[in-house]
Amino acid sequence: MTAQRQPALFLGHGSPMNALEDSPLTRTWTALGRRLPRPRAVLCVSAHWETKGVLVTGAEHPRTIHDFHGFPQALYDIRYPAPGDPELAKAIETRLAAFRARADLDGWGLDHGTWSVLRFMFPQADVPVLQLSLDTRRNPAQHYEVGKALAGLRDEGVLILGTGNIVHNLRLYNPQLTEALPWAQRFDDTVIDRIRDSDHAALIDYMHLAPEAALAVPEPDHYLPLLYVLAVRRPDEAAEIFNNQVVASLSMTSVAFGLDS
Ligand code: ZN
Repeated sequence: MTAQRQPALFLGHGSPMNALEDSPLTRTWTALGRRLPRPRAVLCVSAHWETKGVLVTGAEHPRTIHDFHGFPQALYDIRYPAPGDPELAKAIETRLAAFRARADLDGWGLDHGTWSVLRFMFPQADVPVLQLSLDTRRNPAQHYEVGKALAGLRDEGVLILGTGNIVHNLRLYNPQLTEALPWAQRFDDTVIDRIRDSDHAALIDYMHLAPEAALAVPEPDHYLPLLYVLAVRRPDEAAEIFNNQVVASLSMTSVAFGLDS
């Protein structure tokens, strides 16, 4: 039996509090879960797992990680008990042998970049979930190369899910604002245009994409998951952009490739 090819998704995840909310944003995550062909597994590239070297979670039962501070208890009480898939972790190790990827058995689990969206997409937590780390020793072009080596997984029924934020500057975030800061909106618009044009080279070299790049992406962690999703895009796939909403210095812009193919 051949698996149905899975789409590839980048989701803006924003505040961990989204995990507790019923909002237009979380409703798009619920709707996505219903619209997708059921995946064999989800491989998440989360902004919140940075390591030296490329790691993939290999545990049979990955733990729920609450990697934030000062939030209400209800957020710490959330568990997302999706199983892992040690066999798939091994296959990914092999696929990424050129990058010396290793399975990680108990160091990490599922962080909030992953479970805050998956608890809406797959509320039963019955689809196996793995995470792939961001290797801090690699530059953006090298992250894109790692992503390219994952492309074939889509044909094996694995959903590649990048979870981060295209514009993510918490230092300049103002919770009183309901509108975008102009530079944040400009950067988000530029990224959307380049995604639509399939100009991956410009998106990899994001620091030179626009004058406001250093403000929009002060640290690479929330932007890099996008490069993994671009890397597994097929040449014929148009971008479906959604949740493209910028508030202050945070954008929730999300993109899907191959959702209805
Ligand atoms: Zn985050």
